[in-house]
Amino acid sequence: MNKAKRAAVIAGNWKMNKTPAETTALINDLKPLVADAACGVICCVPFTDIPAAVDAAKGSNIKIGAQNCHWAESGAFTGEIAASWLKELGVEYCVLGHSERRQYFGETDETVNSRTKAALAAGLKPIICVGELKEERLADKTHEVLDVQVKGAFADIAAAELANIIIAYEPVWAIGTGLTATDDQADEACGYIRSLIAGLYGQDAADAMTIQYGGSMNAGNAEALLAKENVDGGLIGGASLSAEKFQPIVAAASK
Ligand code: PEP
Repeated sequence: MNKAKRAAVIAGNWKMNKTPAETTALINDLKPLVADAACGVICCVPFTDIPAAVDAAKGSNIKIGAQNCHWAESGAFTGEIAASWLKELGVEYCVLGHSERRQYFGETDETVNSRTKAALAAGLKPIICVGELKEERLADKTHEVLDVQVKGAFADIAAAELANIIIAYEPVWAIGTGLTATDDQADEACGYIRSLIAGLYGQDAADAMTIQYGGSMNAGNAEALLAKENVDGGLIGGASLSAEKFQPIVAAASK
């Protein structure tokens, strides 16, 4: 982290976990534990948990995010949710392009870009996920993959919007597997993403961009990962599902 240059943010991605009642309980457990956090704290919850999460988080420093949004305002898109409706419910952030959506739901760099534009237009702050597969890392193609994903996601996004966007570097081989990128691997990849943003928007914009690491981050490895210059926080899956596991990560980012 380099807090002199940019915000540190810890975001939980709850994936498809927690009922509305469980959401209220978890946010209520978390609130006192992170009240003094010196970093951003976000919980990205399932759509159906949003009212409970927004209500429970009211008056606290916890911000609520969604895990996807559609690019259209309304229409014949059965099962989809418009960005403006999330905003109306009190959502502030939206995870986009998570590898699980790319893997199971046909998400592409083009649709990530469309969703990003819709989220920004609605006043949501996108958390854009990028990252390579294991075979791509082994074939030394990590930079190539990040290049395509970052340039795809940011196509036609104005520089003025950058302050409202977070990037999450999530090597797919480290998500939910217990395998973590080494501190140096995370730093190198986040630094490479920063260099891509510098190429697109200039060094000042790149220096100000929050770039998280995600992939089996937990209480045991967070501090070392977050000590790296280019790792500005974390997108946390499994360890965001209990207040006891999430809090130490927030504490590590608060140092
Ligand atoms: C994620 O879902 O974005 C993630 C990083 O999951 P986990 O922390 O469980 O690897």
